[in-house]
Amino acid sequence: MGKIKEAVKTILKEIPDNVEIVAAAKSRTAEEILEAIEAGIRIIGENYIQESQPIIEKIGDRAIWHFIGHLQKNKVKYVVPLYHMIETVDSRPLAEQISKHALKHGKVMPVLIEINSAREPQKFGVFPEKALDLIKDIKALPGLKVMGLMTMGPAVEHPDHLRPFFEETKALFDAIRNECIDGVEMKYLSMGMSDSYRVAIEAGANVIRIGTKIFGQRPQQ
Ligand SMILES: *Cc1c(COP(=O)(O)O)cnc(C)c1O
Repeated sequence: MGKIKEAVKTILKEIPDNVEIVAAAKSRTAEEILEAIEAGIRIIGENYIQESQPIIEKIGDRAIWHFIGHLQKNKVKYVVPLYHMIETVDSRPLAEQISKHALKHGKVMPVLIEINSAREPQKFGVFPEKALDLIKDIKALPGLKVMGLMTMGPAVEHPDHLRPFFEETKALFDAIRNECIDGVEMKYLSMGMSDSYRVAIEAGANVIRIGTKIFGQRPQQ
């Protein structure tokens, strides 16, 4: 069995049934991604539209495609037809652009709101205290459906240092879900990567985004 397959099987065995893995596949080849799919991965996450286009054309509906990178408004038109979910919505203008292009393609794009859980000014994502207002502001856009939250968390020395940020994002997720906002379905909480997914699951994540632990170190790191 190949290394990628072995890694996927190990993680699948370890995590609870309700947790979905997004295999974070930036810089990986279609062959590597297909090996992960054969081992049981259903969702592939990509960060870069140009890099992902030929790969998605090759692999197509053998996977569900999540956009997990920072999305510029002028790239939305390329992302909408190829992807099944966008995990990184953090502004009304971006949401409007997604809705507009989704309608052109006759679809409703599921999105997650990216939370800047450590409130780092230079990073993407909406501050936790602004998330509810943003969701209320975009809920009526007809080409998009809010389905949860995503967070990266800050760079820390030990994954356990992410716990307070993951826990705050989970509390925010629950609070927004309890508002029962029309047209909003708080279903997915995407947090945790290769070195932090255990902490994230303990904090309540039901989507984890795993790159290096599945595919090995990225070449240009
Ligand atoms: C690359 C990436 C991941 C996975 O990171 P690893 O440390 O390789 O597991 C998760 N989320 C996002 C948004 C990424 O860009």
